[in-house]
Amino acid sequence: MVRYRAWCGTAADFPEDVIFIGHLEELQGISLDNNAIRIGASATFTQILEDKRIPSFIKLPVSQIGSPSIRNIGTIGGNICNSSPAGDTLPMLYALDAKVTVVSKNSTYTIGINEFITGPGENILKQGEILKQITIPIGDYNRFYYRKVGQGRSNTISKTSFFALAKTDDTEIREVRIAFGAVATTVVRSPQSESYLKSIHKKELPNAIDKIKEQYGNLINPIDDLRSTKEYRKNVSLRMLKDFVLKELIK
Ligand SMILES: Cc1cc2nc3c(=O)[nH]c(=O)nc-3n(C[C@H](O)[C@H](O)[C@H](O)COP(=O)(O)OP(=O)(O)OC[C@H]3O[C@@H](n4cnc5c(N)ncnc54)[C@H](O)[C@@H]3O)c2cc1C
Repeated sequence: MVRYRAWCGTAADFPEDVIFIGHLEELQGISLDNNAIRIGASATFTQILEDKRIPSFIKLPVSQIGSPSIRNIGTIGGNICNSSPAGDTLPMLYALDAKVTVVSKNSTYTIGINEFITGPGENILKQGEILKQITIPIGDYNRFYYRKVGQGRSNTISKTSFFALAKTDDTEIREVRIAFGAVATTVVRSPQSESYLKSIHKKELPNAIDKIKEQYGNLINPIDDLRSTKEYRKNVSLRMLKDFVLKELIK
């Protein structure tokens, strides 16, 4: 919808016939139950940002999408179904193990976001299926971080992005979740590296940072394209990782 928008008050200019689904009641609404937030696929970014029940760590990446007018029209469902590795909601959704519910005339199924997205611009949706709802489990986190690096500060598609959250106490890392955007065909997350991070005492993080960077450096595999080079993407991604570890996780 956002891509083919026209001037205010005029109809969007589509190259072919499309079906508008934004008014479907089943795709609307935001609810909170059993430690999970359920967001209808047609919820706009602005609706998410204005909902007081949604935690700040979900809102942070959403607040950095496009511009106010893009956020008023663009939907979380559209961001997921676009399936761009640079989509701003995706690292957060991967880090939180979000699930998506897909419906068609004859079936309904729910799967992890990491199973739904299969490649750049690719997902498992078949003809006749639409994304209905996103379910995001809500944990107890006291550290969160999101940065995207693009050409400018607004209306910019990420060259690379980095999302992380953690639960820490005075000395230990109880929980940590890290996801990189735009550095591989899909979002990169590593349970093994997160386990390694959890095994490190906070005061040892400065000594361990090179090993942490090396582990993630082996996992991310960016490409050269119009927006950036693979070297730049890799360097900046690992710098954001270091920034998070030594400024947030260590606190
Ligand atoms: C100027 C500009 C700036 C942008 N900036 C950003 C940015 O900063 N960060 C970012 O992540 N993205 C950005 N985008 C991309 C875009 O705004 C987002 O991906 C947005 O979420 C798209 O939402 P939409 O509702 O308009 O989706 P649409 O464009 O309408 O849909 C996208 C695709 O998903 C399919 N689709 C949508 N909803 C469903 C559903 N419920 N079930 C099945 N298929 C569905 C559509 O058929 C289409 O193929 C930008 C785009 C523009 C034009």
